[in-house]
Amino acid sequence: MQNKETSISKLVQQLEKLPGIGQKTAQRLAFYIINMKTEDVKALADAILSAKISTKLCKVCCNFTEEEVCPICKDEKRDRSVICVVEEPQDVAALERVKEYKGLYHVLHGAISPLKGKYPEQLTIDVLLKRLSDPAIKEVIIATNPDVDGEATASYLARLIKPMGIKVTRIARGIPVGGDIEYADEVTILKAIEGRREI
Ligand SMILES: [Zn+2]
Repeated sequence: MQNKETSISKLVQQLEKLPGIGQKTAQRLAFYIINMKTEDVKALADAILSAKISTKLCKVCCNFTEEEVCPICKDEKRDRSVICVVEEPQDVAALERVKEYKGLYHVLHGAISPLKGKYPEQLTIDVLLKRLSDPAIKEVIIATNPDVDGEATASYLARLIKPMGIKVTRIARGIPVGGDIEYADEVTILKAIEGRREI
């Protein structure tokens, strides 16, 4: 029997591409969407498209923003002597939930992983190094994930940054090995930052 491509099956295929969505969930979501009011479906589709179109990278820290420079980089009350380096924008969101960290961020958009075809030049390391020429910066906290790629990225960055005379620290191992900062609870993140060590 030939499988005819219906609009529902196309929707299922698109939903399945999202992280954490298997075929069953994709199907359930597709049927749910079909049963929604047309105006609600339109609002959902519009929200997806508009978030995609209006979001860009902050030209300072490379976090997602709708402006040239994000609100965190613009905030005069933040401590401009510390930069916390993370893999993804969602890690900034996780650290901001803790409300204790008052420094700035830098988002790499991934971690070095030759196996996954991710090399240093594909990350925002060049932008970070340019930022570090600012003499106001005294410390770089490396908060990449505590897995193989995150550790490799941390040592790579430390090798580049330490000769610049800037203190490089690594967050403590409170976050379970192999776990993502994104999913860590607030107390764990706070302990990981407070217990950071110079590398
Ligand atoms: Zn920024």
